[in-house]
Amino acid sequence: MAKSRRRSRASRALGRPATSPPQGVARSRDEVDALAASGALLAHVHDVLAGEITPGVTTGRLDEIAEELIREGGGVPAFKGYQGFPASICPSMNDEVVHAIPGDVTLRDGDLLSLDCGVVLDGWVSDSARSYAVGDVGDDVRRLIEVTRASLDCGIAACTVGNHIGDIGAAVQAEVEAAGFSVIESLVGHGVGRSMHEPPQVPNYGVAGTGAELFEGLVIAIEPMVNAGGPDVQLGPDGWTITTRDGSLSAHWEHTVAVTAAGPRVLTASALKSA
Ligand code: MG
Ligand code: MG
Repeated sequence: MAKSRRRSRASRALGRPATSPPQGVARSRDEVDALAASGALLAHVHDVLAGEITPGVTTGRLDEIAEELIREGGGVPAFKGYQGFPASICPSMNDEVVHAIPGDVTLRDGDLLSLDCGVVLDGWVSDSARSYAVGDVGDDVRRLIEVTRASLDCGIAACTVGNHIGDIGAAVQAEVEAAGFSVIESLVGHGVGRSMHEPPQVPNYGVAGTGAELFEGLVIAIEPMVNAGGPDVQLGPDGWTITTRDGSLSAHWEHTVAVTAAGPRVLTASALKSA
């Protein structure tokens, strides 16, 4: 799940953001390993769901499968009950950005489906999202998914000791904007650990070398949310689903990542080669 951020364009224009003290908790090696176990269960859930995505399946069915797998693995769905959210996954389709509620909606040929899921295992939270093409899709869908995925990889690569939060955002933003797409500014990534949303905020835009410094043991969810059209989004009548304001497509990729002395460690990486 993404974190909402209230920050006006006007305030952002007032000045160049500066560096700030480190934010968030430094996890020990054992704690990062525990988060990695949570992340491995979550990656398994995503890997299984990936094989279920086909025209005719309902988002409610995907949710049932996810919850079953999480509980079989000894975990608890992190999203279910979070601020009243009723399900274990957020299946956001086409112009839906994030936080859609699963139900009777049926996947159709040509859809873009973003699947966001979270796991709590032994009290440790992991958070990860992937975007999929459903059946035969247009080049526009495929390209948006690929660019969003590539921008996540750029953000992860910037996740090193001594870098700053702004380095991550700048890397994501550069990749997205080079493709002619937009990053959303009102939704951000976040620290993750004992709870789903911890400091620091991890925007998908920024100025390199600015913001809080990254340190060994920091664990964050990096999650580019990318619109094919403009950057503006709106909240739907269900109080959860966020859609693009201009009706354009949106994609979402997310990994939980630990900053280590050896470089970024992706805790929600798939064990499968293709994912
Ligand atoms: Mg998420
Ligand atoms: Mg998240």
